[in-house]
Amino acid sequence: MIQALRGTRDILPEEVGYWQLIEATAREILTRALYQEIRPPIFEQTSLFERGIGEATDIVGKEMYTFKDRGDRSLTLRPEGTAGVVRSYITNKLFSQGVQRLWYTGAMFRYERPQAGRQRQFHQIGLELLGSGAPRADVEVIAIATDILQALGLRNLTLDINSVGRGEDRQRYREALVQYLEPYKAELDKDSQERLTRNPLRILDSKDEKTQAIAQDAPKIIDHLSDESKQHFDTVLQLLTDLSIPYNINHCLVRGLDYYTHTAFEIKSDELGSQATVCGGGRYDGLVAELGGPETQAIGWGMGMERLVLLLQQLQQPPVTPPDFYLVSRGVIPEAQGLVLAQKLRSAGFIVELDLSGSAFGKQFKRADRSGAVACIVLGDAEAENKTVGLKWLASGEQEAIAQTDLLANTEALRSKIAQIRN
Ligand code: ATP
Ligand code: MG
Repeated sequence: MIQALRGTRDILPEEVGYWQLIEATAREILTRALYQEIRPPIFEQTSLFERGIGEATDIVGKEMYTFKDRGDRSLTLRPEGTAGVVRSYITNKLFSQGVQRLWYTGAMFRYERPQAGRQRQFHQIGLELLGSGAPRADVEVIAIATDILQALGLRNLTLDINSVGRGEDRQRYREALVQYLEPYKAELDKDSQERLTRNPLRILDSKDEKTQAIAQDAPKIIDHLSDESKQHFDTVLQLLTDLSIPYNINHCLVRGLDYYTHTAFEIKSDELGSQATVCGGGRYDGLVAELGGPETQAIGWGMGMERLVLLLQQLQQPPVTPPDFYLVSRGVIPEAQGLVLAQKLRSAGFIVELDLSGSAFGKQFKRADRSGAVACIVLGDAEAENKTVGLKWLASGEQEAIAQTDLLANTEALRSKIAQIRN
């Protein structure tokens, strides 16, 4: 038997309602702020991710699905969305069209140890705002993220925020940090010991407890920011306050790469165990130029959809769409008329479930009751002969005979009656 690969899973119809709810909610909120959807390819040249995410990161170092195609090119399945969107922005010269507000959704691939909320094929919704360095841009994207999470009904989320300043700020900070960490070297976890020379800022977000305790008392990057960087950060915090978005300054939230600038943030849930981060993002004013485009200020975030689904599952039953009509029919001519009627009602906008079983009426009626339909349409030999249907309102049991033509002529009245019963 062929099984789904480790770290992948089937999203079955019973769960897919959650996904559709997340997508519809995000799409609506993004559209109101004039973000436009972009759909870059799922695989790209490996070098895009090496340069765009950084060789020193876990993603590039050990998580990428990289392979040679038949033309001996090195390709990689996208591990995240930003690099592809930025590549597309450059390739298609979107920078010549002013500020670009873009969003995407889809599967991402990382070779990780699968756990709840951590898979090898997972899904993100993300956005990128390219062409503005204004603190208002930072806060707009954060506000959109919090709006989406709030519209989904998610609570107990916290926004962690920090500033990593600019390259010069980090250079200054790096020296102070290494000076502080050096005496603790032997107590740091193995990865962190290596990072001490290569990428010391990343030690701050180590998941090792002992390292975390040491990092708690490390010098803080915000004390090493230039006046200009500090001003940017202070404005971002003030604007968050203006929007009544609570935040927590997390001095250990860093991104170690040169093209990350200023704001870094994460939104976490305290209901997800160790896979707590549902949204991660930040400003990356150096990335577009790093990938060969013009100097462009930009900021974005990515949200993990599996983690959102896990949270929604704790809150509510999966959204389902019950039928307006359940159509019961039996006999060659009634069944044929039933199919035609079902299609006409569907064209008129109704949700119609057609019983295909051909079984006894009693069995079909039972299924009609279980279906959650508002009304049952019945077609037997007598109805077919007279071109009528039996229309039974399932909640009240009220029943009427009605000409098929009248049924189709009075769709507005039917629609309002169904809406009334549903409410
Ligand atoms: P983590 O620390 O959990 O590994 P990350 O820093 O690698 O997260 P990002 O690259 O910032 O994550 O991706 C943004 C979001 O995508 C994460 O906050 C998370 O919600 C989700 N995500 C990342 N990796 C996975 C994965 N393997 N499976 C499911 N969701 C993921
Ligand atoms: Mg990760």
